[in-house]
Amino acid sequence: MFDAHRHLTGEKEPHDALYCTSHQDEWEKVANLPLPAIGALGALADRPLPALYEMGSMLETHPLLQIGEVGLDKRFGDLEGQQKFLLGALDLAFSMNRSVTVHVVQSDALFLSCLERAGNRIPPILWHGFSASMETARAAAEKGCILSLAPGIEHTRLVKRIEELALLPFAIETDYDKKTMQETPYIQAIEAQYALVGRLMHKDGETLIRNNYAKRAILTNNAPPR
Ligand SMILES: [Zn+2]
Repeated sequence: MFDAHRHLTGEKEPHDALYCTSHQDEWEKVANLPLPAIGALGALADRPLPALYEMGSMLETHPLLQIGEVGLDKRFGDLEGQQKFLLGALDLAFSMNRSVTVHVVQSDALFLSCLERAGNRIPPILWHGFSASMETARAAAEKGCILSLAPGIEHTRLVKRIEELALLPFAIETDYDKKTMQETPYIQAIEAQYALVGRLMHKDGETLIRNNYAKRAILTNNAPPR
């Protein structure tokens, strides 16, 4: 069961998951995760954003590393600066053949406009914790985004149209982190999320497992699977 998005919790055994960071101080740790984990370098604007060249040189040193999570979050202010960093990260990923996991909060239209501005230099993108409208889902999917469904999905308005969403490229994630670790063991969390999406979409577990592996291949540029 591949998990399209989770965080470091300090467990010894890395799982088959895309481990995203949101701060530079975790870069070294995700960069050195053993297979089958996929590490991704990220930075969000709740702290000062790093220089893109630093991300570039880490990616150069670690050819299996991806980018994530980066994005736009209205709560953190300076959307101009966030947008500049996001556009730079998308371009870096495109030129280095990496995927990007994005975090978008109260900035859906601005994110879509960034995709527009990136033109045809758009890397594979996972829109993590997707909960925007179906219209946004369609526009993002048209630009090649994979829409990733986190545990909160059943409490969003999107849940009513989830069967329509199932026709677009989607993935399953736990968004597991140190906080959720206090409440639920990881294996239980990933199984529960597959079960939830299966129940909402009326899809069986095997289909969902296969779907997430296909998304894994896209997000890793076909890096060695488990
Ligand atoms: Zn996350």
